[in-house]
Amino acid sequence: MGRVQLLATGGTIASRHGPGGLAARTPAAELLAAAGSPAGVTVTTSDLSTVGSFALDTSDLRGLVAEARRCLVEGVDGVVVTHGTDTMEESAYLADLVHDDPRPIVFTGAQRPFDSPAPDGPRNLADALRVASTPAARDLGVLLCFDGHVFAARGVRKVETLRSGAFAAPGRGPVLRVDGDAVTSLARPPRGPALPLDLAADLPRVDVVPLYLGADDTLLRAAVAAGAAGIVLQAFGAGNATPVVAATVADLVSGGLPVLVSSRVPSGPVAPLYTGGGGADLARDGALLAGDLSPWQARLLLAAALAVSPDDPLTVVAGHLAAWNRIRDRVEGVQG
Ligand code: ASP
Repeated sequence: MGRVQLLATGGTIASRHGPGGLAARTPAAELLAAAGSPAGVTVTTSDLSTVGSFALDTSDLRGLVAEARRCLVEGVDGVVVTHGTDTMEESAYLADLVHDDPRPIVFTGAQRPFDSPAPDGPRNLADALRVASTPAARDLGVLLCFDGHVFAARGVRKVETLRSGAFAAPGRGPVLRVDGDAVTSLARPPRGPALPLDLAADLPRVDVVPLYLGADDTLLRAAVAAGAAGIVLQAFGAGNATPVVAATVADLVSGGLPVLVSSRVPSGPVAPLYTGGGGADLARDGALLAGDLSPWQARLLLAAALAVSPDDPLTVVAGHLAAWNRIRDRVEGVQG
């Protein structure tokens, strides 16, 4: 008999129509009653919050991750988190950054509300509960289960605003597939080393600064003025910026501010290719290229690295990215 803990935080999966718009009001026990427990699995529930995930902050996120880890320490076989889809890829990634346990933490949610005539939440939750209690999900890290597919937290992105297949892992694909009771393994994701992050302490402020045609450095400077301890550039293409942003990055980096470069393109790594404001200049001037991490996941990695090593966060980020790449190369070598 397996045991799974269901932690509910809100999101569309728990939302109902009301006079002002959709609001997350359905408690975990009701979500579970609609989904049903998998045969042979005991599911216990708790409600952490009933909010849309667009209203969560990093303090809520630390609390959620700490609670999921506490449930594992208490001895459940897996944890399922119901969560809004808007920021699920961020929450799942922070949970994954500190996850050092073979048992799965599985995030899920819905695109249609609980009181919709055809809600997708009950099936997504039933699938996530099945995944959380299956041996096939062990050693895969934190997972996101949605619309019959399961993705590793690192690299997953919301790719549809309204359709039921809300998530994809561009350049990677799903790691499991769920068809009713059957869970099929598709790929083994690399698992990087866990970061020794103290979840009781605040995460330092890291801002994501977007690049767009003709962007000047106003937003970059505003982020620093607001107290950012680190910056992630949501750069063009393979990691390029406008000349003025690149020049300001060089200034800020020489003053000690850590800057990570990721791309506004959903798939593929950034690379030090171009001068004239491009990635070659950014890298030469001391910004760190963040591989194929999305800007939002890169932001959490840099914030965690700042918390772990305030004086040298980029060494922690670089070490983490390098270790993950080595493990990926080994896993891909084994998978042929
Ligand atoms: N659209 C969102 C959801 O799917 C709202 C949120 O993120 O809470 O749950």
